[in-house]
Amino acid sequence: MERTFAIIKPDAVERNLIGKILERIESNGFKIAGMKKTQLSQKEAKGFYYVHKERPFFDSLTEFMCSGPVVLLVLEKENAITAWRDLMGATNPEDAKEGTIRKDFALSIEKNSTHGSDSAENAAYEVSYFFSETEIL
Ligand code: GDP
Repeated sequence: MERTFAIIKPDAVERNLIGKILERIESNGFKIAGMKKTQLSQKEAKGFYYVHKERPFFDSLTEFMCSGPVVLLVLEKENAITAWRDLMGATNPEDAKEGTIRKDFALSIEKNSTHGSDSAENAAYEVSYFFSETEIL
């Protein structure tokens, strides 16, 4: 069983898509091991996306991520990291495959509805950034 970290981003929460996205997660065999709704501070968003600090879209991305509530998730499944990235689809919804969350729900390359860890190392860091072990069940 592997763990990954996911976010339902502000664009999806604002459009009442939490339920639809959680339904896809559960029906694809993930266990929701941790879940909280919150609104990120600038400090939290900048810390979370620190690896992207030199990218031209860093300020826009961190502002967007603080613009409204998000749902933070710890997901468990065999090969959860790859499985969740496959279910999300490509970063840019224009490149995302049919049936993926980003193809169906994302508004743009930035407002792309969900986040998913891209490696085991980042998954462990991102889970611990927002969750304590006692909040993961
Ligand atoms: P991910 O792993 O698929 O989420 O993609 P990245 O790690 O490359 O980028 C992190 C997040 O930054 C993406 O999910 C988007 O929300 C945003 N992003 C990525 N590329 C761009 C871009 O070219 N322009 C803007 N405005 N945002 C971007």
